[in-house]
Amino acid sequence: MKPAAFEYRRPTTIAAALDDLALDAGARVLAGGQSLVPLLNLRLATPSVLVDINRVAGLDEIAERDGRVHIGATARQAVVLSSDLVRTRVPLVAAALARVAHPQVRARGTVVGNLCHHDPASEMPAVALALDAEFAVVAPDGSPSSVPAADFFLDSFAVAVPAGGLVTGVSFPVAPPGTGAGFYEIARKAKDFALIAAAAQLTVAAGTVTEARVAVTGLGHRPLRMTAAEQSLTGGPSTAEAVRDAARLARGEVLAAVNTRSPAAYRSRVLPVVVCRALTSALAQLEPTP
Ligand SMILES: Cc1cc2nc3c(=O)[nH]c(=O)nc-3n(C[C@H](O)[C@H](O)[C@H](O)COP(=O)(O)OP(=O)(O)OC[C@H]3O[C@@H](n4cnc5c(N)ncnc54)[C@H](O)[C@@H]3O)c2cc1C
Repeated sequence: MKPAAFEYRRPTTIAAALDDLALDAGARVLAGGQSLVPLLNLRLATPSVLVDINRVAGLDEIAERDGRVHIGATARQAVVLSSDLVRTRVPLVAAALARVAHPQVRARGTVVGNLCHHDPASEMPAVALALDAEFAVVAPDGSPSSVPAADFFLDSFAVAVPAGGLVTGVSFPVAPPGTGAGFYEIARKAKDFALIAAAAQLTVAAGTVTEARVAVTGLGHRPLRMTAAEQSLTGGPSTAEAVRDAARLARGEVLAAVNTRSPAAYRSRVLPVVVCRALTSALAQLEPTP
């Protein structure tokens, strides 16, 4: 299949990108094209204008500022994954990104494009939610705002970006000292979308969990924070038993209509297992190796 005809624009500034997006209500942003181009080819998306943001200056940054790691809208998944800054300062991002797609896709696909696409079986939205990521959104009139992950993911394939606006980047808080990160996914094939996956981060001081962050993807139309598990861990001992007890508290509405790759009953049953394994792998990072 070939895409329907569209006007192709390639701006070099954010202001010009907004002007191009304002050309028509059917205009769409093009980042890595790894989700959008297949949709175009299948004519499941027929934008009148395609605004390629890859030449907009400064959007490919990966940088630490104000206690957060900022990833720009055109930073490729492969570049983010191989970044020492990302691996050491936001290790959960790297742990999950290694499970996203194949190297060929990651060479072109972007972290921000992946989050904006918001496939409900995608790994990274769970990480964004668990870490309280902040999205830098620019409205059509150029006004910037910061949207927390909890408000960003609206529904399957729907995020809080106004028509004619765009996301310029996403930021994640730097992991505090004494932090371990773990990501566990069940997928039909290696590098496939998740049937269900959990992202977990534990911060420990003197054997006590000071912060627990856990979120799951693949249950419903949005990633879900496992607040009961987080609360049960926080303030308690950083032991395997505490992790197992917390994982048993993992609950969430599991929608049959979402993630048709596996039945809802299956995802519901494996939810505590997936949470336990993500937490266990976070814990293992904290334990001194003999
Ligand atoms: C074979 C294959 C396997 C894959 N496996 C996985 C997987 O296991 N897990 C997974 O999560 N993903 C997977 N993907 C999807 C991949 O991660 C995509 O790269 C990603 O979903 C989209 O990123 P992109 O930069 O290519 O965005 P694009 O395809 O360019 O855009 C995707 C959507 O986001 C919008 N968008 C992009 N950037 C912005 C922005 N800055 N502001 C506003 N809107 C924007 C676009 O308009 C479009 O609607 C796979 C893809 C392929 C082809």
